Amino acid sequence: MPVTKAYAAQSATSPLAPWTLERRKPKPHDVEMEILYCGVCHSDLHFARNEWGMTIFPVVPGHEIVGRVTAVGDHVKKFKVGELAGVGCLVDSCRECDNCKEGLEQYCTQGAVMSYNSMERDGSGLTYGGYSKSIVTHEDFVLHVSEKLPLAAVAPLLCAGITTYSPLRHWKVGKGMKVGILGLGGLGHMGVKFAVSMGAEVTMLSHSPSKEADAKRLGAHKFVLTSDEMQAKNVAGYFDFILDTVSAPHDYNFYLGMLRTNGVMVCVGVPPAPTAVHAMSLIFYRHTLAGSLIGGIPETQEMLDYCAAHQITSDIELIRMEQINEAYERMLKGDVRYRFVIDMASL
Ligand code: NAP
Ligand code: ZN
Ligand code: ZN
Repeated sequence: MPVTKAYAAQSATSPLAPWTLERRKPKPHDVEMEILYCGVCHSDLHFARNEWGMTIFPVVPGHEIVGRVTAVGDHVKKFKVGELAGVGCLVDSCRECDNCKEGLEQYCTQGAVMSYNSMERDGSGLTYGGYSKSIVTHEDFVLHVSEKLPLAAVAPLLCAGITTYSPLRHWKVGKGMKVGILGLGGLGHMGVKFAVSMGAEVTMLSHSPSKEADAKRLGAHKFVLTSDEMQAKNVAGYFDFILDTVSAPHDYNFYLGMLRTNGVMVCVGVPPAPTAVHAMSLIFYRHTLAGSLIGGIPETQEMLDYCAAHQITSDIELIRMEQINEAYERMLKGDVRYRFVIDMASL
């Protein structure tokens, strides 16, 4: 079994540190990649610190993976050695349930296998993510990546990109719609770029006054400082659609009040603890509160192709592997503009 260097958390309170793990030898349908860059998602931090109470240690986070194909199994047709490729949050699913058949593998009724902290379908062991030098993945879950975009800035598309693109598409965001993107972090900044490119009027809803100029630079038409009562009042009953990307506890009722009649708020951010939603927040003006999990494989490829066609990538700060613990602390303070990406050459 090929051994690969990695960074792992050994417990909820220990910092990430060097570790080694074994990747399987490529099976007939497997693609082996050298990982060149891996994005740092807030979910990685939630998992490393067991904030959702479901982590199995040691955990190797990382699900925004891009690199070059180094080997392929005998039956692989989609990829050749030397090509660029990407792996996101999903690495396997049953392929047979209604959701899988529809290309919604993230909602596989047998349980999708995630790129880390998941049991392989054959029970052979746990999955380990992209904070490592290589990964072996079934070709059905490997994505084509454009040679024309800066590769490090493509990595975050594999999670932050698809997680924001998918709900914007599902709820048909486009011209004539007033859209609020709540939280300007890794997901939020991609949400702004996509919603603007789809033709919507986009307002950044942020609790950080220092991010106003960046929000406008990213394409947002308006900026609302959510902690400013007057500014928040001005957008009461205003939005057709709000995408909530906030990772920390916050009051959904407050933001539901910003929706117009029939407005929809979609949660993608996952605060560690539940929040109470008052029925009145939904009943008045027939509001909908919904959720959305990443996106399926066909839609992830569609999103990557859309980004190549529209020259959309993530705004990143490249870090070395050993800076990961410091990066987590900065992410908690909202001090990331707007996605950390690890240069795997540093591992
Ligand atoms: P991030 O880069 O840390 O961004 C989160 C943003 O939330 C911050 O930049 C900040 O924006 C806002 N925020 C943070 N603390 C806040 C507070 N106390 N009050 C109000 N706003 C606050 O995180 P991310 O990587 O974008 O991930 C965001 C969330 O989405 C995480 O919970 C992550 O686990 C989840 N996620 C879900 C999916 C899915 O499939 N549904 C996929 C990926 C990630 P402002 O400074 O602008 O307020
Ligand atoms: Zn993620
Ligand atoms: Zn399935």
